[in-house]
Amino acid sequence: MTDNSAVELSIVIPVLNEADSLRALYEEVVSAISRSGNCEILFVDDGSTDESLNILIDIQQNDARVRIIKLRRNFGQTAALSAGFRHARGRIIVPLDADGQNDPADIPRLVARLETGFDIVSGWRRKRHDNTLTRTFPSRIANWVIARITGVKLHDFGCTLKAYRAESLKCIRLYGEMHRFIPALASWGGEKVTEIVVNHRPRSAGKTKYGLNRIFKVILDLITIKFLASFSTKPIYVFGGLGGISMLGSFLSGFAVFYYKFLAPEHLAMNRNPLLVLSMMLFMTAIQFILMGLLAEILVRTYHESQDREIYIIEEILESPGRKV
Ligand code: UDP
Ligand code: MG
Repeated sequence: MTDNSAVELSIVIPVLNEADSLRALYEEVVSAISRSGNCEILFVDDGSTDESLNILIDIQQNDARVRIIKLRRNFGQTAALSAGFRHARGRIIVPLDADGQNDPADIPRLVARLETGFDIVSGWRRKRHDNTLTRTFPSRIANWVIARITGVKLHDFGCTLKAYRAESLKCIRLYGEMHRFIPALASWGGEKVTEIVVNHRPRSAGKTKYGLNRIFKVILDLITIKFLASFSTKPIYVFGGLGGISMLGSFLSGFAVFYYKFLAPEHLAMNRNPLLVLSMMLFMTAIQFILMGLLAEILVRTYHESQDREIYIIEEILESPGRKV
């Protein structure tokens, strides 16, 4: 029954200690995809220490569409999703949370929207059922900032429930907690991204795996991807720019020292004046920045050339039909 080449849809579900919600979720997924051709349900066990894995194996006994990837330890949601994306066989990939907060009933709508000509359809949890103070409110701000900085106009980057064309995930590598930035990375690569409102429910069982420290991780990840996207082929522009600014500051400060020492009508007491030290410090910082930029240039070349990565992505090359290749 499982013809690998023709899997239409892969549902990817990262699981960390969700024993109490897995069965109900599985039932919901099955009824949601019942009309979607050849599907697979790929659970990624991210080092669960409860009964999750046994429950999954039990579910698999009766359903050949269920695949399980067991990670050796807990690597985090992004890593679990990456593993799932890498091993998914479907033409379309839909990840969702294992805790039942995403509603599998939304899957057909996401897929239908994807088929109207998009590469990624992101879920927007318009009505969230999470703690307002620690989750919903920070996430509103985060989404606003991410949308501004990445230039990708989505309302809800953090929603796991999205639909992807499998190819659009191929050239994206994920680190840290970057799964929420996939739409941004993809859209920079020229993919078409849109969103639809999806249902969101309170956690049915178990507890959340995240706390407030997630905010800092998101900010740092955001800085990283912005830097990589804007300057990964020309880091010297960033570091050289910063070096230039420091150098300018150094000269200004140095000139002030010179002025007060030799040109000013009244001699000021130089022994209490920090400008000389400032000037030297800025000068050294400038040299450091520029050297760092040069190092980064070397790293970038290693990065691109060792993986045969080009600095562009070709969509298609159109040859004249009359031409013999
Ligand atoms: N998860 C995971 N590995 C982790 C943390 C979370 O696989 O290290 C899974 C978790 O089982 C759930 C999904 O990622 O299916 C989202 O986690 P959670 O519900 O805790 O996040 P929240 O909904 O609170 O943002
Ligand atoms: Mg959750």
